[in-house]
Amino acid sequence: MREKCGVAAIASRHRVASSLYVALLALQHRGQEAAGIAVYEGGIKGYKGLGLVSEAFNGIDFSTVEGKTGIGHVYYSIKISVPENAQPSIFHTHAGDIAVAHNGIITNAEQIKQELMEKGHHFIQGSEEESFAYMLADELKEKHSIEHAVKNVMKKLEGSYAFTFMVNDRVFGLRDPYGIRPLCLGKIENGYVIASESVAIDALGGKLIRDVIPGELIEIKPEEYKGNVIHRKKHKAYCFFEYVYFARSDSIMNGREVYSIRKRLGEILAREHPVDADIVIPIPDSGRTYAYGYSKASGLPVEEGLMKNRYIARTFIMPSQKVRQELVQLKLNPVKSIIEGKKVVIVDDSIVRGTTMRRIVDMLRYHGARQVHVRIASPPIIAPCYFGIDMTTRQQLIASGKNIEEIKKEINADSLGYISIDGLTEAIGIDKNDLCLGCVTGEYPIKIEGEKLRFQERIEWK
Ligand code: SF4
Repeated sequence: MREKCGVAAIASRHRVASSLYVALLALQHRGQEAAGIAVYEGGIKGYKGLGLVSEAFNGIDFSTVEGKTGIGHVYYSIKISVPENAQPSIFHTHAGDIAVAHNGIITNAEQIKQELMEKGHHFIQGSEEESFAYMLADELKEKHSIEHAVKNVMKKLEGSYAFTFMVNDRVFGLRDPYGIRPLCLGKIENGYVIASESVAIDALGGKLIRDVIPGELIEIKPEEYKGNVIHRKKHKAYCFFEYVYFARSDSIMNGREVYSIRKRLGEILAREHPVDADIVIPIPDSGRTYAYGYSKASGLPVEEGLMKNRYIARTFIMPSQKVRQELVQLKLNPVKSIIEGKKVVIVDDSIVRGTTMRRIVDMLRYHGARQVHVRIASPPIIAPCYFGIDMTTRQQLIASGKNIEEIKKEINADSLGYISIDGLTEAIGIDKNDLCLGCVTGEYPIKIEGEKLRFQERIEWK
């Protein structure tokens, strides 16, 4: 299963279910197939359903749900959605109730599951969250503190993970030692919140305190939080794609505002790939901030030459290729007077499969564009992601095994320019060695069978 999700957790003096609902609405861009909330009401109780946050909880009046600690999740998967896939997942274990919400991929999940089954665990879902809950329960049974138990669990986990989880009424956030998936901590009026992105804290009227440190376990309570970095790596591996594609522009990640990074990427793109053209057109909405940056640095005016039907979901994260293709046509339509007879530069965040870009270029030509130049604010995606983004095989990727000239021909553009890896890291402002660049270099921060490891590291245990 490949998933790309959003998680949240709240501990408050007041009931938290309605606040979790608001946090999930703010994280909706991270998953639209299902949503769920788990709260402690004497035992952990879950509320979940398929669809957008506004659809998943139809008929539930959260103002009557009593719990003062809880976690939430928005879900995306390439699998057909069934309600059982929705998280948080709740397990009634010998160590008490455990609820888990997960964003990421545990790369050694199968091996962990086998070991747990050999120890006598009977899996209900077979999910990574279930393995996490059983490992934690086993450790807690040994009378370890939660911190000690989590440390032992982390020693076994490989891959990317940003968890929010509950053990009975206690609520925690946990980020993998590389910090691949984002997680941050904030203060709200009557307590504390942990969320995938700071926009969830903003939506609750709260203040971002800081990011959860890679390898850190944080417990939040209404009156305080306590963080402990359990597992350190010398180098981090923050997913660069969060900055380029997934995060909301108004989020702050690792102390950096995503909007400013995107604008800077557009400026650097103009510096690296200038072109003689009349106008810059963003692909709405994904290319807009980059287009502003490109325009600023190149002096070319920005025009909204493509209009978006806002009621169609994002194509890249729609589950099937067929659905994706049909929706492109419906989703974007050119403003003819803007493009007719013009040399246009279209700017977007990335090209994954290339089918959408080809259709857009053809559409612009059909409606009278004289030349169509394509500029992309990420380097060519040449390899799969194993850490939670839906790019699973090289065959899906237009840039895998092709040079720029071949890709340009395939998307029917007059010219094509991708930002360089140096340009990308300059804009993000994080050292190359602290970013995951696996899908654009083919070298990964974590050992993956058949793939190259970026560099060997010493593990430091506290
Ligand atoms: S491989 Fe690419 S998409 Fe996946 S975590 Fe690394 S940078 Fe992000």
